[in-house]
Amino acid sequence: MSQRLQIGIAGAGVLGRLAAWALAEAGHHVTVFDPADGPAPRQDGRGAAGYTAAGMLSPLAELDNASAEVALLGWQSIAIWSRVAERLTAAHAGSEPAPLLFRQLGSLMVAHGSDLGAAERVLARLRGATDLHAAMPQAQALDRPALRELEPALDPQLRAWLLPGEGQILPAPMLSALAASARGVDWRWGCSADEVAPGRITLADGTWHDCDQALDLRGLGARPALPLRGVRGEVVWLHAPGVALQRPVRLLHPRHRVYIVPRPGDLFVVGASEIESEDRSPVSLRSAVELMAAAHSVISGLAEARIVHLETNLRPALPDNEPRIEAEPGLLRINGLFRHGWLLAPALLRDGLRRAGLVNALENGAP
Ligand SMILES: Cc1cc2nc3c(=O)[nH]c(=O)nc-3n(C[C@H](O)[C@H](O)[C@H](O)COP(=O)(O)OP(=O)(O)OC[C@H]3O[C@@H](n4cnc5c(N)ncnc54)[C@H](O)[C@@H]3O)c2cc1C
Repeated sequence: MSQRLQIGIAGAGVLGRLAAWALAEAGHHVTVFDPADGPAPRQDGRGAAGYTAAGMLSPLAELDNASAEVALLGWQSIAIWSRVAERLTAAHAGSEPAPLLFRQLGSLMVAHGSDLGAAERVLARLRGATDLHAAMPQAQALDRPALRELEPALDPQLRAWLLPGEGQILPAPMLSALAASARGVDWRWGCSADEVAPGRITLADGTWHDCDQALDLRGLGARPALPLRGVRGEVVWLHAPGVALQRPVRLLHPRHRVYIVPRPGDLFVVGASEIESEDRSPVSLRSAVELMAAAHSVISGLAEARIVHLETNLRPALPDNEPRIEAEPGLLRINGLFRHGWLLAPALLRDGLRRAGLVNALENGAP
């Protein structure tokens, strides 16, 4: 490393923890401020949006509602996550086996025969993104035997497409592993940053922290520095022993965007609503019914699943719904990751840290 810098980070969500890990790995001295009580996962929807996320890494499927640039960044991010997960797993200490952090088995898009119009619209969008064809694989239509072979739990009548190379993150284990493995990072829990300026983070108690480089990675907490809004998302957790699903499944439906994501321990996350509201109150009956009915319509074996948890959180979004990197000497802000934060964080951070001239562990082969 050329220079050991003092880095101050406001926010210990997806971006904040990944940045802390990547910069500490490269030998910088990193201090992180976050109002949360500590690094443990929160399931009350009041902490980082990253905890509530399903963890889908779906650059192709997200083309339905995102730009080609977002898809390309997402594709690059999957390769970076794979390397990060490998390093975190290798560094895992303790008597328990390392938890699963990342999986890349592709994902499935499925549609009921009656909804083929909705499916065709999404597939046309994928086919139309010709700029991406050289960089990313294409959706592959599956016939019934191929679908049965890949995911026997799915209704065999479904029309299905495999999106090769897509993956998933296990959000809580990944956030924990990043915090636990970030070498020598000074975590200041219970500390809210009121202002992040070049070389200075000012805390809610009026004290401040001077540093060579300040990173503003506070998600929705970065208001009013950025014109952010929260977009409500709701998920349902199901426990269904005996239902085997290897990869995330997205149902193409005219009215809902619903996906089912398998988690270890026979758990499934079904998500997610997208509502223009900053209401963090519990999941509504309408959302719960729609999400679960859609999930049950593709996996009938979920009928006896137990509903173990419902959660609401807010996605941090900018007016154009696109992510933004703002860099000036001594200050880097990244925000607006909206519905793709896990998908985009590594590539956006890599680009942002590059612009700030910071050596870090997200570059190929670095540090
Ligand atoms: C229901 C739902 C499902 C989702 N599913 C997916 C998915 O499948 N795939 C995907 O890629 N993305 C998904 N997302 C989006 C993803 O979770 C977000 O885009 C991502 O978490 C944004 O990362 P972030 O680090 O910017 O913000 P966050 O993860 O929200 O972290 C922000 C951090 O900043 C801290 N903070 C706030 N205010 C302050 C302050 N004043 N001072 C210091 N720290 C502060 C917070 O405590 C938090 O720890 C989903 C989101 C939701 C809500």
